[in-house]
Amino acid sequence: MLSVVPSPVVVRAPSKVNLHLSVGDQRADGYHELTTVFQALSLSDEVSVVPAKALRVSVRGENASSVPTDERNLVWKAAVLLADAVGREPLVDITIDKGIPVAGGMAGGSTDAAATLVALNALWELDLSREELTDLAAQLGSDVPFVLHGGTAVGTGRGEKLLPVLSRNTFHWVLALAKGGLQTPAVFRELDELREKGSPPRIGEPEELMHALASGDATALAPLLGNDLQAAAVSLLPQLRRTLRAGVTAGALAGIVSGSGPTCAFLCADSDTAVAVGAELSGAGVCRTVRVASGPVPGARVVTSESIG
Ligand code: ATP
Repeated sequence: MLSVVPSPVVVRAPSKVNLHLSVGDQRADGYHELTTVFQALSLSDEVSVVPAKALRVSVRGENASSVPTDERNLVWKAAVLLADAVGREPLVDITIDKGIPVAGGMAGGSTDAAATLVALNALWELDLSREELTDLAAQLGSDVPFVLHGGTAVGTGRGEKLLPVLSRNTFHWVLALAKGGLQTPAVFRELDELREKGSPPRIGEPEELMHALASGDATALAPLLGNDLQAAAVSLLPQLRRTLRAGVTAGALAGIVSGSGPTCAFLCADSDTAVAVGAELSGAGVCRTVRVASGPVPGARVVTSESIG
């Protein structure tokens, strides 16, 4: 008799950079009201799922040892949430191949959670719609719906209420990965403290930035990039100031702290410039390592799914 060994379902999901991240005051529930414009980038993680006797998570790649493999991992939470929603046990082995820096402000954990929802939807042949997956994604974290959908989108609320944004052309980025990580809640706390002590400048509305995206003009987009969390990230890790300066000196159009940091993202005029800026930055000793990426790219999607006999 032929025994069928299922091969894994593999899903690739993007990282994100916030082109615009304006942070309002803290709400009664402790969260801050955000207006953000996300772009999905080609720097990605891959998540593979295969049926197993128990739920198990393993992590390989970029800084894997700092990622928990138990119920604290967002993929664990995603598997349990989806299994509960459809009334089955989460009996799967999940492997995460990390390309996205851990605690880097690029939504790595959220990406893996979105990838897990898509992978298990395929593995268990659930046929859940994107809308149904989006509802589950929003329960897992504010960035999860975006990395599920990808592209370019404006997010409000905690960032989870999404509307797609028209974006022409591909934009070219260099990402400077920092030596340590920054925990998102600590960065928000630091911003609250900076705002209590003084009034760090707040970025305005993203209308002009949306026009630049629609025109596909990187030179017009560059001066409009803005992040209210940048002052807080730099206050916690002052060396980021040097990193940001070094990227612009190397020829980037603009540099910005990505989300809550500490990854710095540099927008470049074209892919050749991005490679040159990346090379210069990696030689300048201002970051741990450098990656070149482009965006927008699609959200979490299956890259292989076959059964072999
Ligand atoms: P965001 O940009 O969404 O604020 P981030 O990119 O700064 O997040 P993550 O890489 O998502 O940060 O990790 C934040 C913390 O979450 C890590 O320190 C880690 O302990 C925990 N974590 C849980 N699941 C994962 C996962 N699958 N990948 C990475 N970190 C995870």
